[in-house]
Amino acid sequence: MQPSVDPIPTRAPSSAQSARRRPVEVAAGVLDSLGLLNGVLRIARGRYIMAYHRVLPPAEAQAEWCHPAIWIRPKTLDEHLGFFSDIGRLVPLHELLEADDADGPLFAITFDDAWIDNLTYAIPVLDAHGAKATFFVPTDAVSTGRLFWTEELALKIGAALLGPRGEALIAHFGWPPETCGQGNALLPRLMEFIEQLKELPLAEREHSIERLYAQFGIPTSPVQGRVMTWDQIRSLSAQGHTIGSHSKTHLILRNVDVARVDEELVESRRIVEEQIGRPVDCFCFPNARYDAVSSERVLAAGYRYGFRIHNLKVTRTTHRALIPRFSASEANATLPFLKLRFARACLT
Ligand SMILES: [Zn+2]
Repeated sequence: MQPSVDPIPTRAPSSAQSARRRPVEVAAGVLDSLGLLNGVLRIARGRYIMAYHRVLPPAEAQAEWCHPAIWIRPKTLDEHLGFFSDIGRLVPLHELLEADDADGPLFAITFDDAWIDNLTYAIPVLDAHGAKATFFVPTDAVSTGRLFWTEELALKIGAALLGPRGEALIAHFGWPPETCGQGNALLPRLMEFIEQLKELPLAEREHSIERLYAQFGIPTSPVQGRVMTWDQIRSLSAQGHTIGSHSKTHLILRNVDVARVDEELVESRRIVEEQIGRPVDCFCFPNARYDAVSSERVLAAGYRYGFRIHNLKVTRTTHRALIPRFSASEANATLPFLKLRFARACLT
């Protein structure tokens, strides 16, 4: 299978994108109310893997300056799980992978990044449905307790934007003055700014961030307390959930030399196995991005399965290093819209 890419959105949806999606959401609602989407899924059967990140009530997601593509409400997660059990079976990831296409509809749940909110908000929902999930763990983030730089930056600048220097910071960015104090208007602009920083070489990016922190009195201390600890991950494993690797440093494994790719794959696997005392055979690509080199090295590093994000079912012909998952967030996974995405995957 040719590697293809369907990464999670890296930008907050613009108002134009949201407006374009609205008619599709309405259409999904109509088709769903007629029972057509459930009908397609029952007939097509199939195996579907979900990819979740953060699970938060809206007020907390807002306070965290959380990217819209990576959070979902506990209530929406509960609706998803209820639907999966109604229309088919909700099974552990390995059971789905070892099943046959005709056994479906089967659904499996995965979470990326070891967010601590998964323990607070996702585990009670999983327990209520008797479900076991797979958690993909970036080992450096867990070992240091430190957030990815993108999330840390969003939190710190977000707090500064709503603080006493907010107006000056907004002027510095050249954003409209009327966005001052308006979290909803500032969030997409902040996400766009972080996207621009991602394009810079590492040293230049770090220098820009340091300058900004110094100029606006933003604290430089690391943000702690958002990522699970190894004790918590061991406890998840003991409860019957599966732990996979999500690399060592969450480096995007595209256009990276093969030695570094191997280090990310092999080291992270070794660390997770050492920490949980069990073999690890699943790897999930950071930011769902990969290339021919990294997709080829997953199996060579000793994993049985590699995971990406793509709106496709798992089938007999799925490449074992590039197993597709459906990303799910409040921005793209109201239940009718999610069903429409599944139905499209059945019909293509
Ligand atoms: Zn990730």
